[in-house]
Amino acid sequence: MTLVVQKYGGSSVADAECVQRVARRVVAAREAGHDVVVVVSAMGDTTDELLDLADRISTGPAGRELDMLLTAGERVSMALLAMAVTELGHHATSFTGAQAGMITDAVHGRARIVEVVPDRIRAALAAGSVVIVAGFQGVSQDTRDVTTLGRGGSDTTAVALAAALDADLCEIYTDVDGVFTADPRIVPAARALSEVGYDEMLELAAHGAKILHSRCVEYAKRYRVPLRVRSSFADDIGSAAAHAGTRITPTKEGTPTKEGTTAPAMEAPLISGIAHDRGRSKITVVGVPDKPGAAAVVFGALADAGCDIDMIVQNASTEATDCTDISFTLPASGTEPALEALRRIQQDTGFPALRLDDRVGKLSVVGLGMRSHPGVSATLFSALADTGVNIQMISTSEIRTSVVVHADDIEAAARAVHTAFGLDSERPEAVVHGGTGR
Ligand code: ASP
Ligand code: MG
Repeated sequence: MTLVVQKYGGSSVADAECVQRVARRVVAAREAGHDVVVVVSAMGDTTDELLDLADRISTGPAGRELDMLLTAGERVSMALLAMAVTELGHHATSFTGAQAGMITDAVHGRARIVEVVPDRIRAALAAGSVVIVAGFQGVSQDTRDVTTLGRGGSDTTAVALAAALDADLCEIYTDVDGVFTADPRIVPAARALSEVGYDEMLELAAHGAKILHSRCVEYAKRYRVPLRVRSSFADDIGSAAAHAGTRITPTKEGTPTKEGTTAPAMEAPLISGIAHDRGRSKITVVGVPDKPGAAAVVFGALADAGCDIDMIVQNASTEATDCTDISFTLPASGTEPALEALRRIQQDTGFPALRLDDRVGKLSVVGLGMRSHPGVSATLFSALADTGVNIQMISTSEIRTSVVVHADDIEAAARAVHTAFGLDSERPEAVVHGGTGR
C-alpha cells in the first residue's frame, strides 16, 4: 500500500460542487488502494475576502488575530470535504494544522515550520480513515497560538506532511494541467512540461511563476519529496495517461566524466520556462557617495524595515561628483516602507534624491542548459528589441537571466521570448480551468 498526499488549492474547492468533485478524486485514490492524506486551501478567494474584512475594521490588526481569522478559511474547506468523502461511503477525519502536528515558530503571518509530529494522522490512517488537513497553518511551539505560513502556504503544508509521513507521492492539484513553459493565461502557446528539476522549478517559483510556492519547492528538494503538479478539473479519474501533469524531480546534474568533473547533461533543455512578475517597483537612490559603507547603510536600512529586495544595480560613479546611483526592485506592495526607510537615512547618507517607478515587471528565463550555452542573453535581448521592449535592468544567476521592463510590456515580452527560444507549441495545450487570478 502506498501513501499519497494530495493538496487542493482554493479554486479546486471554490464551491460545493467543486468540493464534491475533489471528494470523488480522493475516494478514487482510496479505492485504488492508497492511504490518502489531503491538504486543502480555503475556498476560492476566501482568504482575500477575510483580509478585506479585517481591513475594514482595523488599520493594523494584531498578527495573532489575523492568523485566527485566516485559519478559519481552511477549516471550512476541511470540514466540508470530510463530509463529502463520508457521503461517498468512506471514513474521513479532518484536522487543523495544530491537530495535525504542524509545529511552527511564533512569527504570525509567515511562520516557519520547526517540526512536524503527525501522530494523529498516522493513527487515523491506521484506523482506515482518509485524513484531511487544513493547509497553511500550524501552532507555535512557544506561545501555543495558531499561526499561518504565509500566502500560498498550503503547498508547503502538503510537502512538509509528505516528508514527515515518508509519503510515496505528493500531488499538488490546481486549476491548470501542470507546470507550463510560461503562464498559459498570457502565453497561449505555452507547453506543458512533463518533468522539471527542483532547481529550475525553484527559480521559476521565486521569480513569479504562481503554480507553486517557492518554499514548498525548497522543502521538497531538501527532503527529496516526489512531487507532481496536476489539474483537479481534468476529467481523468481512472485514465492514468491523460493529463498526468508535471513531475518535479531531482535536477539532472549530468554524468561524471573521466576527469572527475561533471559535464552538463546532454538532454538538459536550453530553457525550461519563462516566469513573469508584473507587480514590482523600481527605486533609484540618486547620488550615493562612492565610498566604503554607503551601500551597507542603504541596504541595512532596507533590511531593518523588512524589505524584500532583489536586482540591485550600482552604476559606475561619475568622476566629477564621485557619486553613484543605486537601483533595486522590490514587490510593489513593499514600496512605501522602503521609501520611508530610505528617507530616514537620507540626511546622514547625503544622497540628494529618490526616484520611484512603480510600473515595472520582471521577466525571467530559466534553464539548466544556460550553464553551458553562451547565446542565451543574445537571444533574449534581440527578442525584446524586435518587440520594441526597453530593458531597464538585467540580472543573471547560473540558470536564470532576468530583465526588468515596463509593466505594460510584460505580456508582449513573454510571448516574444517564448517564441524566440522555440518553446511555442503548435496547438494550444493549456486549459485554464478555474481561478480568478486574485
Ligand atoms: N488560503 C491561503 C492563501 O490564499 C493559503 C493557500 O491558498 O495556500 O494564501
Ligand atoms: Mg488561496
